[in-house]
Amino acid sequence: MARIAVGVDLGGTKIATGAVDDNGTLLARTELPTLAREGPGRVIQRMKESVYGVLQKLGLSLTDIAGIGIGVPGPMDARRGVVKNPPNLPGWDDVPLLSIMQEEFNIRICLENDANAAALGEYLFGAGKGIENFVYITISTGIGGGVIAGGRLLKGDGGNAAEIGHITINFEGPVCGCGNKGCFEAYASGTAMARFAKEGILSGRKTILGNFYQKEEVKAEHIFAAAKEGDEYAMELVEKEGFYLGVGLASVVNAYNPRCIAVGGGLTKAWDMFYPRMIEVMRKRALPVNVERLEVVKATLGPDVGIIGAASLIFQKE
Ligand SMILES: [Zn+2]
Repeated sequence: MARIAVGVDLGGTKIATGAVDDNGTLLARTELPTLAREGPGRVIQRMKESVYGVLQKLGLSLTDIAGIGIGVPGPMDARRGVVKNPPNLPGWDDVPLLSIMQEEFNIRICLENDANAAALGEYLFGAGKGIENFVYITISTGIGGGVIAGGRLLKGDGGNAAEIGHITINFEGPVCGCGNKGCFEAYASGTAMARFAKEGILSGRKTILGNFYQKEEVKAEHIFAAAKEGDEYAMELVEKEGFYLGVGLASVVNAYNPRCIAVGGGLTKAWDMFYPRMIEVMRKRALPVNVERLEVVKATLGPDVGIIGAASLIFQKE
C-alpha cells in the first residue's frame, strides 16, 4: 500500500492542507483562511483543524499516515523548529511550531521553508524528477527558490538556504522588503513589474496601462495583457522582465550548476512572453560550462505545489 503524508502549506492569506501519497498524488485537500491578524495561537489552531479535516475526508486516522510536513514562510530556525518573524505573519516571533505540532499529533513532523519544500516536491514528483542537481524558482509577488544538490534538499545552517529572490543584482538598486538594496526580487517579481509600470505612468509614458492605474492597482497580468495588444510601453516592461530574470538566473546557474531549473509561480502564465529573452540573457552571462547541458522548464506541480512540497518532506531521503 502507498504511504501517505499530510502537507500543510502555511501562507499569509490561506492555510492549504492535503494528503499526498508517495507517488505525489494529491488525495484530498482543504483550505482555511489564515486570518494572520488573529495571531499565532489561532492560526496554529486552524492548521491543526485542517490536518484533522483532511484525514476525515479520507476516513483515515493519524496512525495511517507517515507524518506531517509543514511549509512555512521564512525566516525560520530549522534546527529548533522555530518560525522566526515572517513579514506576512505579523505577531509571529520565535514560534516553536515544530514542538507545538509534535505535542498535538505525536507523529513525525517536518518543518521547512515553503520554497525549499516546493523544490523538494518538484524534485520528487514534478519537473525535476530524477535530476539530482536541480533548482526550483517561483516568480509571483516575490521570488523564492530551493536547491537540490546531489539528490538532497540544500537546507543551509538554519533552513534558509537558496533565498534566490534576495541575490543582489544591483548594489545601488531599489530597497527590497528584506532591507537590502537591489535584490533580484526588487527587479523581477510581479510586484517589481507593477512598480516599474507605475513609475512610467506617473512620468507621463503613453500607455493603456494608465487606464488600469486609474481604476485599480496595475498588476503584472495587466502588463502582459497590454503587451499582447501591442502597447509599446508594456512590451518594453516585458522585455525588461525577461532581461532581469536572465541576469538573476545567470547568478543562480553559476552558484549551483544545476542540470535543470524549473520555474513556477503566477508569472509563468505569461511564460512564452518572457522565456526567450530570459534564456538569451542567462546564456550570455553565465559561465559557458554551466549552461551547456542546462535545461530551463516550467514547473509541473501547479498551484498545489505548496501542499505536495510540504508532504514530500516526509518522503525525502534522510
Ligand atoms: Zn531582498
